[in-house]
Amino acid sequence: MNKSDFSSLPLSTELLEAVSALGYAQMTPIQAQSLPLILQGKDLLAQAQTGSGKTAAFGIGLLHKLITRANQTQALVLCPTRELADQVSKELRRLARAMPNTRILTLCGGTPIKPQYTSLEQPPHIVVGTPGRILQHLEKGSLKINTLNKLVLDEADRMLDMGFQDEMLRIIELTPARRQTLLFSATYPAQIQSISEAVQNDPAIVRLEELHDDKKIKQVFYEIQKGERTKTLIAALHTFRPESTLVFCNRKFQCQELAEELWQQGFHALALHGDLEQKERDQVLTQFANKSSSLLIATDVAARGIDIKDLQAVINFDMAHDAEIHVHRIGRTGRADKEGLAVSLFMAQEAHRVNAIEEYQNSPVTIESTTKLKLRENFRLSPPMVTLSINGGRKDKLRPGDILGALTADPNINGKLIGKIDIFDNIAYIAVERPVAKQALNILNEGKIKGRKFKARKLR
Ligand code: AMP
Repeated sequence: MNKSDFSSLPLSTELLEAVSALGYAQMTPIQAQSLPLILQGKDLLAQAQTGSGKTAAFGIGLLHKLITRANQTQALVLCPTRELADQVSKELRRLARAMPNTRILTLCGGTPIKPQYTSLEQPPHIVVGTPGRILQHLEKGSLKINTLNKLVLDEADRMLDMGFQDEMLRIIELTPARRQTLLFSATYPAQIQSISEAVQNDPAIVRLEELHDDKKIKQVFYEIQKGERTKTLIAALHTFRPESTLVFCNRKFQCQELAEELWQQGFHALALHGDLEQKERDQVLTQFANKSSSLLIATDVAARGIDIKDLQAVINFDMAHDAEIHVHRIGRTGRADKEGLAVSLFMAQEAHRVNAIEEYQNSPVTIESTTKLKLRENFRLSPPMVTLSINGGRKDKLRPGDILGALTADPNINGKLIGKIDIFDNIAYIAVERPVAKQALNILNEGKIKGRKFKARKLR
């Protein structure tokens, strides 16, 4: 038996079944290193990023030995954003699929609190949420965590960035002192160390080497002159033609400006920054993830924690302020055996940042001349999909199958032309291949879903 087989762990058959049903053949490195310790009940301080499989690592830990017949909250996961909390809950539910009656509840801000009170009438076994809202429930007495035995701080660095430190610490004070605390963080600033010292008990430390396998990420740097940033970015898009690209800017106002400029140049670009409302954020991320937008322009804070696969390129429109953040940014491409591309633009006065990256990676970087970038005539980078939205969602008991069924009832729409269907509380997004977008929109507007009429529109 290989030591990265899940079956090498002392897990229940229900968990082993769930893992294999999810198609997880082998443990990821973070899982292989941390799960044996987590299952022994040790506290853990782990440096791990989105995409590393960290959610399943702590998820398996929380579900292992969960007593579902006890009507008590036994675990709490604190996350920086609602999106991450939703992703975590989803993964936990998938892992708990063979464990009937496991109650997992998501409690986040930005959504009405009243329905949460109702859900809390029966204590959930596991609570996943954002610090502000969790604290509100604790203060009101609607949530009790005095029976909790496991606490997870997920993306702790980002919770600190977002100013959640006080809430986090107040919540932790309300948990029993005898508990297992698992702290996950993508970066490792001094503040994380001090939080760990304050709330953990002799934690085991797992730090995965952050360096990526160079073979999987082609990194190219371009030195630019003042005023050449956007032009060079566009030339890089013409040259490399990536289907989906994450572009990093250092300031949030730049994201919107750049997205608008790229629209004018015929690109489908969306900005993701801290000023968006949750609904707008959901929409932007959905459009990018379902391949109906080619470019997502984001700041580090906004982009952290998003789990988007198949990213072909990362472009550093602005260089990151430090090498660790740079490596973290570009690690979002080149996953799962696909070669990724990382393009970075720098000005002469930023050369020290390039040197810092070389030092951090312990290898020289490739700097190429911008003259190698070629603008193509009549070039278009159209995303393959278009997103349609309908004004109904989870609250209307809509499921992806209902929408897919309504569309494919039309003999002209083959199920293969429909992409991801994402359902939120009051809205659903459907990705369809561009050539059938109009037809699909008509079907949704004219027909019924589950016997009801909905209004559909095409997102730009
Ligand atoms: P995370 O880092 O938790 O956001 O996980 C990234 C993705 O990896 C998720 O889509 C998981 O479903 C997936 N994943 C987690 N563990 C494994 C595994 N052992 N093998 C394959 N995929 C996994």
